[in-house]
Amino acid sequence: MTETAVPAPTFPVPTSLSPSRVSSFTTCPMQFRFSSIEKLPEAPGPATTKGSIVHRALELLFVRPPTARTRAALAIDLATALEEFRTDPDYIGLRLDDDAADRFEQECFALIDKYFAMEDPTTIREIGLELWMEAQVGALTLRGIIDRLELDDDGELVVTDYKTGRAPSGNFEQKSLAGVHFYSFLCEAVFGKRPAKIRLMYLSSGETIDTVPSAQSVKFITTRTTAVWSAVERACTTGDFRPRQSRLCDYCSFKQWCPAFGGDPSRAAVEAVAAHDALIAGPVPAGAA
Ligand code: SF4
Repeated sequence: MTETAVPAPTFPVPTSLSPSRVSSFTTCPMQFRFSSIEKLPEAPGPATTKGSIVHRALELLFVRPPTARTRAALAIDLATALEEFRTDPDYIGLRLDDDAADRFEQECFALIDKYFAMEDPTTIREIGLELWMEAQVGALTLRGIIDRLELDDDGELVVTDYKTGRAPSGNFEQKSLAGVHFYSFLCEAVFGKRPAKIRLMYLSSGETIDTVPSAQSVKFITTRTTAVWSAVERACTTGDFRPRQSRLCDYCSFKQWCPAFGGDPSRAAVEAVAAHDALIAGPVPAGAA
């Protein structure tokens, strides 16, 4: 008997890309399929949730008038952000017991201590916080959120991106900056002006990486995202999203359905949603009631 080939599933082609999606596709197309095309839920991780809480606290700090941006005010804003997240699935899903919840809070407070050692928020002339921006490149919409947009002493735009993970080294630094050049591209497209500087603030180590975007770096973004989008379009049409193994596989939420590890991707949609629902519906963790 002749075996009939099973056609690969095809997927709707996305119409927009963000820096994290571009990075996800170039890191591993199969993971991109799971997270960005099928939009499967992932178990939250402490690092990501901590990052969201600290970003929110800093947003609240910068809503205050400059002279009120004190260390004590940021502690209050962090406490507010922690309260806001107590009932969020990204916090509940961490399943922290009392001790782990205390440690989690202490680590959040350590990040804001580092922040205060890095800059004086009373001197910042912000003009936008958590800014949603988008621009067209052909039929594709590029979009992203800028943590903070401000003016320097010369009235030039500065984009600041807070990072709560570790600062990258070597090639990874360039990869990290590629995401920020993306925001530079968005600024130029939306405001008609290229930022004078882009700052990555690594709160865990206290390091700051500054870069000056150029016409070339902005042009590189359109070239790169257009190329990535063509590859995404091709993968959606053919259903061929290749797994690309790396040390990041150890942290991948979809490893059990990845063909590179003997998994069946077609089972992911049902099983990932069921696993996530069960995680969120479990016993209420410390302080979330
Ligand atoms: S386990 Fe590794 S190869 Fe498989 S989808 Fe995840 S990152 Fe990609």
